[in-house]
Amino acid sequence: GNVTVMGIGFTNTTLEGFMDSTIRPCLASEDKCFIVTANPEIVIATRDHPDFRETVQSADHVLPDGIGIINAAKMMGTPLQERVSGIDVMREMLAHAEEKGYSAYFLGAKETSNRKAAERAQKKFPDLKIAGRHHGYADLDDEAFVQDIATTRPDIIFVALGMMKQEHWIRRHMDRFDKGVFMGVGGSFDVLSG
Ligand code: UDP
Repeated sequence: GNVTVMGIGFTNTTLEGFMDSTIRPCLASEDKCFIVTANPEIVIATRDHPDFRETVQSADHVLPDGIGIINAAKMMGTPLQERVSGIDVMREMLAHAEEKGYSAYFLGAKETSNRKAAERAQKKFPDLKIAGRHHGYADLDDEAFVQDIATTRPDIIFVALGMMKQEHWIRRHMDRFDKGVFMGVGGSFDVLSG
């Protein structure tokens, strides 16, 4: 079910429930899936930027990433089950990918941060397949650049370009891929690498 907070429909789920009902099946069937983890800042940005609002509404799932969203939903009498943060979903996806042999691509952040994030992920999940990685300061909309990423056929694509930029990138380019779970992860590479 969905719970609407400030005009955005949030998937009412738990981390475990979301992995079981959405991520695992999506990866297993090689479906494409666009996930937005939205905190209050993101919801507010959808008010100021109609194109961003359209992008968020085009996502398959919007997850409540912040206590502010949880509190707002509760106040309206339509409580959400729990906060589901981007970093937690990312961790669960990496663990699941390692177990099942799925590959992950890391796009975004500065080169050092990007490299360290991939290295940390590899160290924490030794059998994880890293399809590839690239920092986020290239010509991100260049056809050949996007094609190079798509050619690695990642099962999971983490995009760390900051809010709005990352979600717009996913919306614009996911049709170039023939499978993949796409998720914007904000500053998570910096957290993972730090
Ligand atoms: N970033 C990037 N390319 C850009 C702009 C930003 O790779 O053109 C990266 C930046 O290095 C940082 C992340 O995007 O790792 C933005 O992190 P921030 O914490 O600002 O994310 P937000 O809170 O805006 O989602």
